[in-house]
Amino acid sequence: MLSTMQDVPLTVSRILRHGSTVHSGSTVTTWTGVPGQAPVRRTFGEVGARAAQLAHALGDELGVDGDQRVATLMWNNAEHMEAYLAIPSMGAVLHTLNLRLPADQLAWIVNHAADRVIIVNGSLVPLLAPLLPQLPTVEHVVVSGPGDLTPLAGCAARVHDYEELIAGRPVAYDWPEVDERDAAALCYTSGTTGDPKGVAYSHRSIYLHSMQVNSAEAFALGAADLLLPVVPMFHVNAWGTPHASFMAGTSMLMPDRFLQPAPLAEMIETVRPTIAAAVPTIFQGLLAELDARPRDVSSLRSVVIGGAACPPALMRAFQERHGLRVIHAWGMTETSPLGTVAHPPAGVSEEEAWGYRATQGRFPASVEARLAAPGGGFQPWDGESAGELEVRGPWIAGAYFGGAAEEPFRPDDKFSEDGWLRTGDVGTISPDGFLTLTDRAKDVIKSGGEWISSVDLENHLMGHPDVAEAAVVAVPDEKWGERPLATVVLKEGATAGYPELRAFLAERVARWQLPERWALIPAVPKTSVGKFDKKVIRRQYAEGDLD
Ligand code: ADP
Repeated sequence: MLSTMQDVPLTVSRILRHGSTVHSGSTVTTWTGVPGQAPVRRTFGEVGARAAQLAHALGDELGVDGDQRVATLMWNNAEHMEAYLAIPSMGAVLHTLNLRLPADQLAWIVNHAADRVIIVNGSLVPLLAPLLPQLPTVEHVVVSGPGDLTPLAGCAARVHDYEELIAGRPVAYDWPEVDERDAAALCYTSGTTGDPKGVAYSHRSIYLHSMQVNSAEAFALGAADLLLPVVPMFHVNAWGTPHASFMAGTSMLMPDRFLQPAPLAEMIETVRPTIAAAVPTIFQGLLAELDARPRDVSSLRSVVIGGAACPPALMRAFQERHGLRVIHAWGMTETSPLGTVAHPPAGVSEEEAWGYRATQGRFPASVEARLAAPGGGFQPWDGESAGELEVRGPWIAGAYFGGAAEEPFRPDDKFSEDGWLRTGDVGTISPDGFLTLTDRAKDVIKSGGEWISSVDLENHLMGHPDVAEAAVVAVPDEKWGERPLATVVLKEGATAGYPELRAFLAERVARWQLPERWALIPAVPKTSVGKFDKKVIRRQYAEGDLD
């Protein structure tokens, strides 16, 4: 029997229409970084009108048609938000470029996606201009905001000014009814192994994911909130928060390129966001800043930390010293990214709640999970049996984008035979559905047939009062196969040595897990999205640079 319900496509244009009418008074505020200058504030109504103007410009002036790719090389700001709404709503595909990737990878990605247009912030023109000769598909460059345009002189693409391009165009657009399964946005994984891989989110996946982001199970965004997405809009679409915010009427504070701890603390004190989101390393920096120069951060009801394991010591420090509640979440580019969120269940003690909050969290109904056992089959959800996490659901990738003329592809190491996504993350699931990750499969330390969790050692080390950051990697060992190498960054003025750190660890982990190899380093190397780059540490060790 067929249902009797209306079949309404779930599209980004519905989010755009809704946000710019029902929530027309909500705002997008962009930090300018200019001392004494007020941040630039636009209402959702204005953002919606400018998104319509941008769509007219892209279609009428630049000839963007069908599902062509329009890329952005931009910081988090109002214009980027306009692109987020306009490009998918007109039926084209928004392609967010990671401005921290090495030039050759960036060029590879633009060519693979066959981007026709790149919208670039003026401050990033020096990054884009030298690449353009290698980007034959790019016909138009649209420059938004101030910047030096001389590097673009003589380039083959036509150069436009964003404001001039949209000025005077109609502020309404008859958005086409696209198929909800069509691609709306394209995002490449950062390619830590092999070429980067493109994940093409559909209108439907973005819509459903936005609803989940806004649910109380996740971040409970509402019209009374002001969200500070520190996570870049090129990192898994700022974790889906721009579309989710427009859907819920959540105002946004956009940090633009001012992602250092001091300006972040200043914008929190002045603009007073209620919730913020970032990877742990950024919040580690913010914590140090707030410890050194206390600010009023009382407007924040929560900070969402994800993208890498959040050290429990960081959570406690935020709560105890600054009254900030951390929400820990797990996800990846292939999962849009919302996979799990750690809210403790009702009725547990304060201490038990901390235990739950340190896990990666629980799966929402739309994300099914299972743990592939090392020898085949699946592990029980007993909180002890570890396996590789596999997931499936309406906002989980089922394949990678194959490039303009190719079919989507499903590498065996990324997808099971029955189509589940293999996450490459290893961990356990408790009977009540809480995920605890011990490592990425490729970072697990295999010592004499036993596994040592690098994340566990790091979390303990980062609980030592003298330690700012700690990253633990596997290094080859003649006797045991692999052993842990602990690299440690001490806080300014701290003096702890290896014997003290080792003794500290010895009280917390089994003896056989204690690292024999240690290195004090000035900073842990970071990836393009600010995570610990263990590949670089392993290479430095192999080359004898860490003794
Ligand atoms: P990249 O591979 O470039 O880091 P992603 O941002 O997609 O790209 O990273 C996803 C991975 O980040 C996950 O597979 C997982 O290993 C790690 N990750 C994300 N959130 C967490 C978390 N809360 N705890 C532990 N690891 C996490």
